[in-house]
Amino acid sequence: MAKVVTIEQRILKKNTEVAAENRRHFEEQGAYVVSLASSPGSGKTSLLEVALTELRKEVAVGVIEGDVQTDNDARRIEALGIPAVQVVTNGTCHLDAQMVQGALEHVPFDKVELLFIENVGNLVCPASYDLGEHLRIVVASVTEGEDKPLKYPAMFRRSHALVLNKIDLLPYLRYDMAAARAMALRVNSNLEIFETSCLTGQGVLEFCQWVLTQMAKTTAA
Ligand code: MG
Ligand code: ZN
Repeated sequence: MAKVVTIEQRILKKNTEVAAENRRHFEEQGAYVVSLASSPGSGKTSLLEVALTELRKEVAVGVIEGDVQTDNDARRIEALGIPAVQVVTNGTCHLDAQMVQGALEHVPFDKVELLFIENVGNLVCPASYDLGEHLRIVVASVTEGEDKPLKYPAMFRRSHALVLNKIDLLPYLRYDMAAARAMALRVNSNLEIFETSCLTGQGVLEFCQWVLTQMAKTTAA
C-alpha cells in the first residue's frame, strides 16, 4: 500500500512539472486556457457548442477534447468550423498534463487566443491533475443531485466557476436550486455560479462574458 502511494506521488510531481511547461507554452503563444470538467453527460460539449458560437465573435477559439474513446466530440466542434484536437485516453479516466502537451503541436495557436480543454467525464481524478490551464470550470446538470459538491469536494474546491446546466428541464424535476447553490458555496465560497440551458441559450451569454472578463484580467496582468 505504501508503495502505491509513493508511485502516485511521483506521477503527480511529474504532472505538475509538465503542467508548468504547458503554462509557459500558453504564455509564449499568448493563449488563455480554460478547462471543463463534469460527470459524463452533464453537457460539456453542448455548452462548448453554444458558448463558442458566441465567444468566437470576440476572440479566436479552439478546443482540445478528452475522451476515453471516439472522436465524436471533436467532430461536433469541427462542424462549427472551430479547430479541435481529440485526445483519446484509451481507458484512462482523466487527462493529464502530458496528454495535453502531446496535443499542443496540433493546436493552430496562430489562430487560437482562447483554448478550451474538455476533460474526460469524471469528477474524481481530474481534480488531481493540473493541466496548466488558467481557469477551471466544473459543469453539473440539474438532472444530477444537488449534493454533487459535497460528494466530490476536491473538484469543486479547485474550480473557479460552476455551471448548472440543463435548467430548461427544471419544470420536470424536483431540483432545489437554492440548496444546490448553498452546497456549492459551502465547499467553495469563491465559486462563481451560472445557470444555463444549451437548448434555450439562457445564461450562456452571461457565462461567456465572465470568461472574457477573466481572460482580459490575465492578459492585462
Ligand atoms: Mg463531451
Ligand atoms: Zn482518472
